Amino acid sequence: MLVYKFGGASLDAPEKLDNLSRIVARCNEKLIVVVSATGKTTNALEEVNEAYAERDTGKALRLLAEVERQHLELAARSDIDPVDELKALTNEVISFICENKIHDFDFCYGKIVSLGELLSSVLVNARLNRAGLFSRKVDARGFMATDSIFREAKVYFDKTEKNIRETFSFADTDRYLTQGFIGANPRGDTTTLGREGSDYSAAIIASSLDAESLTIWKDVPGVLNADPKLFPDAEPLPELSYKDAAELSYYGARVIHPKTIQPLVGKNIPLFVRSFVEPGLSGTRISHGKSLPDIHVIAVKSNQILVSVLPKDFSFASERAVDEILAAMHAFQLKIHLIQSSPLCISLCTDDGRNARLAIDELRLNGLVLYNDDLELITIRNYSDELIRKYVGKREKLILQCDRTIARILVKR
Ligand code: ASP
Ligand code: MG
Repeated sequence: MLVYKFGGASLDAPEKLDNLSRIVARCNEKLIVVVSATGKTTNALEEVNEAYAERDTGKALRLLAEVERQHLELAARSDIDPVDELKALTNEVISFICENKIHDFDFCYGKIVSLGELLSSVLVNARLNRAGLFSRKVDARGFMATDSIFREAKVYFDKTEKNIRETFSFADTDRYLTQGFIGANPRGDTTTLGREGSDYSAAIIASSLDAESLTIWKDVPGVLNADPKLFPDAEPLPELSYKDAAELSYYGARVIHPKTIQPLVGKNIPLFVRSFVEPGLSGTRISHGKSLPDIHVIAVKSNQILVSVLPKDFSFASERAVDEILAAMHAFQLKIHLIQSSPLCISLCTDDGRNARLAIDELRLNGLVLYNDDLELITIRNYSDELIRKYVGKREKLILQCDRTIARILVKR
């Protein structure tokens, strides 16, 4: 039994849906297809939620109508007709926006942003049906059991595994289709697993069913040593160990979600990253095995902010101040990408955005808080001075941290 996951970039045009259907047709084994939202839909839905949080219902509905229009257009251009289903799903969110009384940002996020995956699974289902590739469509909220951190939900593994084994029994079908990224809390409210989380969903499904392998179909020919959109000389890596893959994704190589590896390791399920444009290529195989060879790897995280806290009372000699700052970041679900501390200042690099700004307000209660935004965090594995010069260029370095193999440089964009 195999699990295939298709990301947003492989779903947002009729030719891409054709590709998907060809790839599925070529699979002769039992299969579960996991899809994320098409193209930039999740970003668009985040804007709907932001408009709604600002109580601008008119804007929220206008933005939502545009999401619906794009899906209807894609359906028409793909020669499929799931119009009623697409409209019914969108109408549920419209009703929610018009009637809901709970104005909690994260709760509404779950309800609104999950629409992307629900819509794309309808499109993919219709496209597969058109090709005679019938599959059983399953709502992921029925099996992905999570806590109530709506935007970065933690999965309850035991319960989810049991649900998955019951749901995907293959008793009367050889093929299932479901959504990544979304789940539900014990009350049945929709939750999401964090941005780019559908790789993680697919890994949980593969692990729960002891799948033979998980394949993530992408718009790149596998895992490369750098993002080809930023660095045209990027080279593919045919093999990676789980450890290297986890490390690279953590540093920001945007190929797989950092959490994807963990469910696979224990069961030794290989992960393939392959190109949906050139499905004939073998891509990258990630499994137990040897570590990355000596070639250099570069990862870039953009839209970073460096927050520096200087306590009024010079209390930084104590570890407690550091604890408090980390706890504040954690409370706002911020991931800390780099820390630098000195006796009178602690600086943290994290993704910029709404939560980072809220955390800064909170930290101002503890002391003076300064920040630099619009930064990029560059990680170079197997670095050299020359590589640092090459990738940093003339840009100002705010922080440079090096250990034996890895250099991390925070620069102005
Ligand atoms: N659609 C979600 C996102 O864009 C999940 C995913 O793509 O994996 O973040
Ligand atoms: Mg996506």
